[in-house]
Amino acid sequence: MELLKEKIKKDGIILSENILKVDSFLNHQVDPFLMKEIGFEFAKYFKNKKITKVFTIESSGIAPALMTALELNVPLVILKKQTSQILNNDFYQTKVKSFTKNTEYNLTLSKKYISENDSILIIDDFLANGEASLGAINLVNQANASVSGIGIVIEKSFQPGRQKLDLLRYDVYSLARIKHMSKEKIEFID
Ligand code: 5GP
Repeated sequence: MELLKEKIKKDGIILSENILKVDSFLNHQVDPFLMKEIGFEFAKYFKNKKITKVFTIESSGIAPALMTALELNVPLVILKKQTSQILNNDFYQTKVKSFTKNTEYNLTLSKKYISENDSILIIDDFLANGEASLGAINLVNQANASVSGIGIVIEKSFQPGRQKLDLLRYDVYSLARIKHMSKEKIEFID
């Protein structure tokens, strides 16, 4: 998606060879026009997949996921990051390792918001090692529902997440795929 790539080039801050900061339009301040275009792009790609719900992980995935859900005319479910384990039967949980914080959290979903007939589209802001996406997939699997697609705003293709999801044969659509980045420049896969 050209508009997104231009925005990353103009306003993204490369903190290290592994971490891109996009606080000015995605993670802290949010560009609503860009989010609307992102929602349109994901909805166009996944429109024939009979998606019943969009899932995302709090909090940075919410803006692009909400616009996608609006375009697809389905509810958005926000998976929660809990520090503690919930020991009752009303929730699905799985442990996820945070890429940016180097800690673990319990990704949590209320059983009220998923059923086995659901066809889920997972949307997230970044794909790095794939832990967050695999955690979301795990929760959907616990509910015996199906993951019909994964939409990623920014994929760092030099990290292993994409390959892991491809090996599991998920339909992954990333709007910007970064081949390589350094303090001097950022290269995309076309
Ligand atoms: P993964 O679980 O694929 O290793 O990492 C994905 C999650 O880590 C995303 O939900 C995102 O919040 C965070 N993340 C991974 N890489 C970056 C990055 O370069 N910049 C920012 N801002 N967040 C990232």
